[in-house]
Amino acid sequence: MFGLGSRKVLKYSAIDTSFSIDVEDTVTCFCRKARRKEKDAGTTEDPKLYLEEAALERQLPELDLRMLVDLPPGLDYNEWLASHTLALFDHINLIYGTISEFCTMTGCPDMTGPGLRTYLWFDEKGKKTRVAAPQYIDYVMTFTQRTVSDETIFPTKYANEFPSSFESIVRKILRLLYHVVAHIYHCHFREVALLGLHAHLNCVFAHLTLLNQRFNLIDPKETEILGDLEAALLGDSTSSSAPSSQTLAIQETPTTAT
Ligand SMILES: [Zn+2]
Repeated sequence: MFGLGSRKVLKYSAIDTSFSIDVEDTVTCFCRKARRKEKDAGTTEDPKLYLEEAALERQLPELDLRMLVDLPPGLDYNEWLASHTLALFDHINLIYGTISEFCTMTGCPDMTGPGLRTYLWFDEKGKKTRVAAPQYIDYVMTFTQRTVSDETIFPTKYANEFPSSFESIVRKILRLLYHVVAHIYHCHFREVALLGLHAHLNCVFAHLTLLNQRFNLIDPKETEILGDLEAALLGDSTSSSAPSSQTLAIQETPTTAT
């Protein structure tokens, strides 16, 4: 159907990696406040740095992102899902890679997300096991890498078709990637913001969320934990239609066979 290497990988261009002083101030001040609150309030959930106004930057206006996820006329639905899944995997993997040194077996002994959520890993036999966050995320990335490289599931060669279970496999990948994003927001947003990557993370989250809103791919029980961020970033769809200097490019990149 498609020749090797013909799959388009969506890329965000004009990613600004410059350090934002505002965010640095907010992060520093917020951490001080958070520690004070922690002392006062005891065991309630940590405050959410990612909901602070200075942290809500995003690289692309919502209008562009909505257009990004709309299925273009004549394009195969599975091919479209494959492109977005690959792009989201690449971006989430990259962002996690930048903060992975802070995500350790002792620092993150559980795979947690906001709302006191803890994720358990289901092994091949369907048995639930409690694993540390870096281990869980390693399982997610390994599983995803293996799946997207499997020619029988993500075909790139001529005459190879998508399997009938393709959409359910994509649902599983997106659910697992969502867990990784939830963990980054919950436990590592401070590091992300200090590296100046928060706008990029927000953009990837917005992409994942809009793709999900468009095609209903992730269970709402999974996404409710970041519902407040979703509302803060995408809530008011009427105010974000202003033109932006940021552009979005769809680039041809060879699909690797590794
Ligand atoms: Zn962690």
